[in-house]
Amino acid sequence: MMYYSTNRKAPLADLHKAVVKGLAEDRGLYMPERIDKLPKAFFDNIQDMSFQNIAYNVASNFFGDDIDLDALQDLVYDTLSFDCPVVKVEENIYALELFHGPTLAFKDVGARFMARLLQYFIRQESSEQVNVLVATSGDTGSAVANGFLGVEGIHVYVLYPKGKVSPIQECQFTTLGQNITAIEVDGVFDDCQALVKSAFMDDELNQHMKLTSANSINVARFLPQAFYYFNAYARMKALGMTDIVMCVPSGNFGNICSALFGREMGLPIKRFIAANNANDVFYNYLQTGKYEPKPSVQTLANAMDVGDPSNFARIYDLYGQSHEKITSIISGATYSDQQIADTMRQCYADTGYVLDPHGACGYQALKEGLKAGETGVFCETAHPAKFKEKVDQILGTDITIPERLAAFMKGEKQSVEMSKDFADFKHFLMKR
Ligand SMILES: *Cc1c(COP(=O)(O)O)cnc(C)c1O
Repeated sequence: MMYYSTNRKAPLADLHKAVVKGLAEDRGLYMPERIDKLPKAFFDNIQDMSFQNIAYNVASNFFGDDIDLDALQDLVYDTLSFDCPVVKVEENIYALELFHGPTLAFKDVGARFMARLLQYFIRQESSEQVNVLVATSGDTGSAVANGFLGVEGIHVYVLYPKGKVSPIQECQFTTLGQNITAIEVDGVFDDCQALVKSAFMDDELNQHMKLTSANSINVARFLPQAFYYFNAYARMKALGMTDIVMCVPSGNFGNICSALFGREMGLPIKRFIAANNANDVFYNYLQTGKYEPKPSVQTLANAMDVGDPSNFARIYDLYGQSHEKITSIISGATYSDQQIADTMRQCYADTGYVLDPHGACGYQALKEGLKAGETGVFCETAHPAKFKEKVDQILGTDITIPERLAAFMKGEKQSVEMSKDFADFKHFLMKR
C-alpha cells in the first residue's frame, strides 16, 4: 500500500517511509491510497471474535501488504495487552473505556503499535539506533514514552516545559529510565516544539543520528485506533444492538478519524458525533461549511484544547472536500467548562459513573443527540484519576488512584535540564 499526502504535492510513500517521516515533504498528512472493505463473513462473525483477533483482521487489511502476517499478528497482540471494554452507563448509553492501558488514556494503543512497527522496520534493515524526539505539554509524552519503553533499537527523548505539566503527568515519563530520556526545558511548550523542529532541520545532527517523530498524525499512531471501534461494535452486536451512534470527544481529531476509516472498511456504525469543549472550530465548520482555525482556549478537558485540528485535513480529503457528505455522517457538539462540570455531577448522581472531563463531553452529546431506537457509545478517553484534583473538586469525591498510576508516582524522577536555546540541545545530542 502506498500513502499520498493530503496536500498532493509530495511523492507517494510506502509504509516504512510514511512511519519514519511522519509528515510528508509538502507538510501534508499521509493517507492510504485505498481503503479496502472487510469481507461480510468478518462482520457476520465479529461478535464471537476476541478483541485481539478483530484487531488483527483490521490491521492486516491496512498493513498486510507491507508486513509479514505472522509478525503483524505478534505486533497487534503485543500492542493490545489490555482490554478496551464497553460498559453500560444507563439505558441506551455505553462507555467505550479506553483507559485500561499503561498510562490510562487511549493514546496508549497508537503509541504502542507505532513503537513495535518502527522496531519491525529497524530489525529488517538491521540498521543503527533510531531516536524519537517528542515535545509534550503532558499526555502525549507519557503515552509515547510508555509505548516505546524497553523497545530495542529505539531511544526516546521527551521534551517538556519545566513546571508546566501536572505532577501525575510528569512522573509518567520522568521515572521510566531505560531507553527514555526526559528533557526538562526552561521554557513553554512552544519552545519544546521549536527545539524538536530545529533538530529535524539540522543537517549535521541528522548525519550524526537517525531522528524521527512520534507525532499523533503519524499513520502508525492514528490508524490502530480503529481497532477498538470494531471491538465496540462486536460487543454491542453481541448484546443485540445494531443502530449505533459513536460519539468521540475530539481535539486533534485523530481518534474520530480512525473510526471514520473503520466505517470506510465497512464498520456498520450508523452515524458519528464529534464532541468538543469550548474549542469549537470543527463544530463551526459543520454549521457553516467554513473551516476557520483560531487560537485554542484552555478548558477543563485540556487534551482537547486544539484550535486547528491537524486531522481535519484527513477528514476533508476522505470525503472529497464535501461539506454535505461530512455533515451526513458526522454531527457536532460543543460544551463550556460549566456544562462539563454539570454533566459530570448529573451523571454521577443519576448513575454512579465517574466521567472524566473529556468523556463528559461525549456522554452529554449522546444525552442530547440520540434519536429514538438508537444506542449511543461514547469514548471514555482517559481514566478520571488522571484528573483527580478537578474531578474530586467537581464531584466532592476522593476517587481512588489505580495501582499502575500510583506506581509511577512512587518512582524516582530523572531528567536532564535544558535551556530553550537550540545550540544547547544540539550540543547535548551530538555527544550521544
Ligand atoms: C488526546 C486526547 C483527546 C483528543 O483526541 P484527538 O485524537 O486529538 O481528537 C481526548 N481525550 C483525551 C483524554 C486525550 O488524551
